[in-house]
Amino acid sequence: MTDAEIPETHPRHDSLVTRHRIEAGVESGITSKQGLIAQGRGEAFDYLLGERTIESADAAARAAAAHLLRAEDPVISVNGNVAALVPDEVVELAEVVGAAIEVNLFNRTPERMQAIADHLREHGADEVLGLAADAQIPGLDHERAKVDADGIHSADVVVVPLEDGDRAAALAEMGKIEIVIDLNPLSRSAQVAAVPIVDNIIRAIPNIISNARDLQGASPEELAAIIDAFDADEALSAAERAIREGELTD
Ligand code: ATP
Repeated sequence: MTDAEIPETHPRHDSLVTRHRIEAGVESGITSKQGLIAQGRGEAFDYLLGERTIESADAAARAAAAHLLRAEDPVISVNGNVAALVPDEVVELAEVVGAAIEVNLFNRTPERMQAIADHLREHGADEVLGLAADAQIPGLDHERAKVDADGIHSADVVVVPLEDGDRAAALAEMGKIEIVIDLNPLSRSAQVAAVPIVDNIIRAIPNIISNARDLQGASPEELAAIIDAFDADEALSAAERAIREGELTD
């Protein structure tokens, strides 16, 4: 079944499209089998959130857009799930905020790195970083530490969707401003982020894009005000409350 064949009226439409894309990603060598497990965990949280963007995630997406527009060297980190789920949206976000795109894998193999870079180029990316791997994130073992010197290593703001907690913590230690997209507000990645967006990446990236377009002409003071008004701890608590106390509608 293709995305287009899943009826729009199906109550679990978005969830089925997401599953289908991950499955296709595994088949084409972009997504690892571990990625299937990550997807399952994400789906469970999304179900409890009511498969919608909660208010605090909306505010986080706006703060993320402000950070990205203010950044000097922003980078969007892409793994196998992200490449399978939102390749067009990653390319569009990179264009709108002037960010680089870097492939960054937990289960790194040369074949998968190349397949993801090719896939992103097919979806319109001009340049994809990550293959040089000529720098290291301090505090991680060799394979997990590899990044590009002119990419994540020198970035001031990094978007890390669905990231492993250790690497998210190590990047925060390096002083990066981290924008984490993760449906689990209790994950270590979300906990160390300057801006945790507790939302499905298929909703979060388009939301950051539309906020970035909206803020394109904003003054530095306006961007600073949006950034200052965002409280990461409060956003995580609000997401946890929504998950624990939310009412399931279907
Ligand atoms: P941590 O190491 O940060 O505590 P973890 O070990 O649970 O987290 P993984 O299982 O490696 O992390 O990563 C998967 C994470 O990505 C999970 O927290 C899951 O909720 C989240 N996730 C999976 N699919 C999506 C999605 N489509 N959108 C947003 N988040 C997702």
